[in-house]
Amino acid sequence: MIKDKVALVTGASRGIGREIALTFARNGAKVVVNYAGSEEKAQQVVDEINELGSEAFKVKADVSNEADVKAMIKEVINEFGQLDILVNNAGITKDNLLMRMSESDFDDVIDTNLKGVFLCTKGVTRQMMKQKSGRIINVSSIVGVSGNAGQANYVAAKAGVIGLTKTTAKEFASRNILVNAIAPGFIETDMTDKLNEEQKEQMLSIIPLSKLGKTEEVANVALFLASDLSTYITGQTIQVDGGMVM
Ligand code: NAD
Repeated sequence: MIKDKVALVTGASRGIGREIALTFARNGAKVVVNYAGSEEKAQQVVDEINELGSEAFKVKADVSNEADVKAMIKEVINEFGQLDILVNNAGITKDNLLMRMSESDFDDVIDTNLKGVFLCTKGVTRQMMKQKSGRIINVSSIVGVSGNAGQANYVAAKAGVIGLTKTTAKEFASRNILVNAIAPGFIETDMTDKLNEEQKEQMLSIIPLSKLGKTEEVANVALFLASDLSTYITGQTIQVDGGMVM
């Protein structure tokens, strides 16, 4: 469905980003695996993609740093000659009640989760405009829709991503660049592993489908939005949350 397309997935060395990278590769895309942490894990994703018969390479870049982002996108275009799909997936949490949240924890989460989306989107725009087509998929969160106590920084960033998605969808529509967001609910990853049993039980009680989501269930939606199965959807936020927020 996305054969020979070039996809850049941020934060792709583990979790949802890793799954999106592998799903894209299984469907014929060449994938650039961005990472900020473990080089070894990023290389494992590249190796798995190669085993699937697709091309891939890894690029270390902090999405909140403009120089890093520019260098990363330059490398993608030098290596593959095109850039068709950007998935803004990289994200962090630094949770605390607002009264106790430090300025630096607020800034760090906004920088990675919101400014990172801005910088990467800005970085790919020229190339996608030149190609007269592109897909940008932003990974927001269901809490960006509903709010969540203890996550003022994260929620502000993820709600911001939904606003950025709508605005960029409008700005780029005439250039055939479609921009959408995915708002996952609670998905089984390292991020949700941090929660204790009581918190997990509490969560399950508010999810109509009574289970945590799997990374594949998010990656399949990203594949749909990146593919030609989706040609008339832009500026939308698709909730992948087991019905938690309606
Ligand atoms: P994760 O912590 O497993 O993965 C996040 C990835 O982002 C990691 O590979 C990390 O190294 C990378 N990253 C962090 N800061 C970065 C930076 N500055 N530059 C580049 N990469 C950076 O988390 P995950 O659960 O896979 O989350 C992926 C995305 O999905 C995040 O945006 C997260 O907010 C969102 N999300 C996750 C859930 C969930 O339940 N897991 C729910 C809603 C939204």
